Amino acid sequence: LNLAERDKKVIWHPYTQMKNALPHIPIVRGEGVYVFDENGKKYIDAVSSWWVNIHGHAHPYIAQKVAEQLNMLEHVIFAGFTHEPAVLLAERLLPILPGKQDKVFYTDNGSTAVEVALKMCLQYWDNKGKPKTRILAFKNAYHGDTFGAMSVSGRSIFTDAFNSLLFDVDFIDLPNKDNISDLTSYISNLTDTACFIFEPLILGSGGMLMYEAKYLDELIVACRKAGILIIADEVMTGFGRTGTYFACEKLSNKPDIICLSKGLTGGTMPLGVTTCTDEIFEAFLSEDKLKTLYHGHSFTANPIACVASLASLDILLQEETLANIKRVEAKHAVFLQEIKAHAKVKAVRQTGTIIAIEWETGNETSYLSNLRNLLYAYFLDKGIILRPLGNIIYILPPYVISNADLDYIYGAIKQALEEI
Ligand code: PMP
Repeated sequence: LNLAERDKKVIWHPYTQMKNALPHIPIVRGEGVYVFDENGKKYIDAVSSWWVNIHGHAHPYIAQKVAEQLNMLEHVIFAGFTHEPAVLLAERLLPILPGKQDKVFYTDNGSTAVEVALKMCLQYWDNKGKPKTRILAFKNAYHGDTFGAMSVSGRSIFTDAFNSLLFDVDFIDLPNKDNISDLTSYISNLTDTACFIFEPLILGSGGMLMYEAKYLDELIVACRKAGILIIADEVMTGFGRTGTYFACEKLSNKPDIICLSKGLTGGTMPLGVTTCTDEIFEAFLSEDKLKTLYHGHSFTANPIACVASLASLDILLQEETLANIKRVEAKHAVFLQEIKAHAKVKAVRQTGTIIAIEWETGNETSYLSNLRNLLYAYFLDKGIILRPLGNIIYILPPYVISNADLDYIYGAIKQALEEI
């Protein structure tokens, strides 16, 4: 049996149990924006492998730092012990985050970073003697796969099977000029809401839906007035994706809590962090054991992952990386101008290095269900990894992607618009 066949016998992959799903392609090597399969075929990773590899694959600098740490200390229990990679990462991360963030809580991935944020908020109010039970979130949001994260994710496809067990959340529409005053007056009447969690400026898994910073600012102001804590889920938007280091830099009103993962380690290792203000941290400082946040993962603050993050930050903060981000952003904009009037293009969207193209499907629902698979296979064949969300294709490449590779992807999209 070849590797794909052996895989099929023993492995349950995410999302791909549908009978018509393509076989999983064995990948043996990565380099820069490319991954290579066992036959040597090269694929451009146009989605940064689920939005994590901001600097591309097998970056030699990150690899070297990881190898050095692996030989020094691979892991240690993080309750009662600490280590320099964890401290250094917190010291370097906090000052570059939007607003004033004072403490880092380490977790393993984006979903658990969100779990921690929700638990922090709910327990914060409890510890303050003002228990609150409800949470505010956006329709179409995606915050992860664990039960708390699912509860605040407003996408039925991920959550319908569990609805009866998810906790009660108030979902609101994305803000715009027409609904903003209704939304802010709705918020001003909320009395039992512990926190508002959102993906700043762009709802990723919900279809790369984008909205304006100024309206998010208005929602935050309304929440503050109503005593609602603010959680920014920057799991996707963090570390340069939206053109600035963090999407919340574009806001005048900053969050109380920020969730980070994905680009944190440059996509090399799993790690998540939830950061918060001292105001929140201090609500948990007490002689009373019950006021502690009882949350800790076995791999919390894994030193190798922390070192990978430090190396990734070194690369991110270089001027060359920022120049690459701006270059990708500008090229994307020109491309979208070129195609936006095409009859098959229903809408185009861009925030920083992320673009989304919505395919016109008319009223043909059967076409819509096939379209995603058609597009996915079409681009794979051309050596491009693009994973459409329904009728929406998006590109979110490593920042080092060359102009030639971008042009190749754009060319393939234009060809697909003619052929599919
Ligand atoms: N929040 C957002 C905004 C995300 O995009 C994701 C992952 N797509 C998550 C949370 C969950 O992260 P993870 O997959 O690492 O658990």
